[in-house]
Amino acid sequence: MTQPSLFEPEPPPAAPPVTVPRLLQVRRIWAEPAAAASARGQQVLSRFPDAEVVPVESHWQIPELHGNEGSVARWVRVKTEDLVLGVKKSLTTRPNGRSADWIAPSAANGCAMACAYCYVPRRKGYANPVTVFTNIEAIVAHLGRHVARQGPKHEPNQCDPDAWVYDLGENSDCSVDAAISDNVADLVHAFRGWPTAKASFATKHVNRDLLALDPQGRTRIRFSLMPERDARLLDLRTSPIGERIAAVDDFVAAGYEVHLNFSPVLLRPGWQQDWRELLQHLDDVLGERAKAQAAVEVIFLTHNQGLHEVNLGWHPKAEEVLWRPEVQETKRSQNGAENVRYRVGLKQRSVAELTGLIGEHAPWLRVRYAF
Ligand code: SF4
Repeated sequence: MTQPSLFEPEPPPAAPPVTVPRLLQVRRIWAEPAAAASARGQQVLSRFPDAEVVPVESHWQIPELHGNEGSVARWVRVKTEDLVLGVKKSLTTRPNGRSADWIAPSAANGCAMACAYCYVPRRKGYANPVTVFTNIEAIVAHLGRHVARQGPKHEPNQCDPDAWVYDLGENSDCSVDAAISDNVADLVHAFRGWPTAKASFATKHVNRDLLALDPQGRTRIRFSLMPERDARLLDLRTSPIGERIAAVDDFVAAGYEVHLNFSPVLLRPGWQQDWRELLQHLDDVLGERAKAQAAVEVIFLTHNQGLHEVNLGWHPKAEEVLWRPEVQETKRSQNGAENVRYRVGLKQRSVAELTGLIGEHAPWLRVRYAF
């Protein structure tokens, strides 16, 4: 074997193998030409070498993919077999203040899973496969400038006592995105170098390849949980609740901060008992290290008329628990949409009940906020 010359650069370390989940059996990649030609676009194309590449002008307008027509069978097929490559044109970081201080520009939108209450399809429709934004260097550079402009965080808040928290997953599930490209890995690595900031995303998919990314405490992963009975009805194509819980200790050991996300909380007969059992289970199985750093955000269901009507066409059983006008009221959201939520008095009592259950059965679980 010949030795490498002293003057030759060392070859880069081999990229760790990527596990492509069964959720993704990609046959077509709809690609803006500039996105396909980019390094990240080439990576995605090489990860799915048998896929046909279909050029498109804009990731926003692909009538063959987007929209709400049809049944879940059609959407699931699109979510499984199609991907989109696009270039994100406008990069903005928006203030949030609830789960995170800031919402980062998305490195992807769309999702391969199909939760019945999901708001992610609101722009492109339910049959909304993952669009990967290939200009990840621009997204990382934008975030680096934003982080630098903030300087240190002087006032602790419920997002974090001392880091500015950036949500990476407003429009997708980063654990699935990480199986499609290295966008999530690049972001996790970037946040490692920004000691005043922290990345954060909620997830319903357990991607154990993320354990190898060495986030050094600068990425918070929030596993979304709800009672198994609700998840079986509503969380289509996601990792089972037990698998998400079983991953918590491993992600803590791998250097993530791991929080929980109880969302959406549904009010239905017997909800208190199911949450009690879930909390007792968490108390039984989570390790001390995970408990010492744990926190949770609790978000009761909001729903809306448009999604209700779409769901009636394919999953009316879900609507029996999601759409309950006798206990809900209309509320106009920040973006102008008419949503429904549980009536104020009922919701206040239920928030108190659930936080009481947390205090009783999982007293180590700090509630960051509940509404
Ligand atoms: S995992 Fe998240 S983004 Fe995907 S369908 Fe479910 S709620 Fe929506």
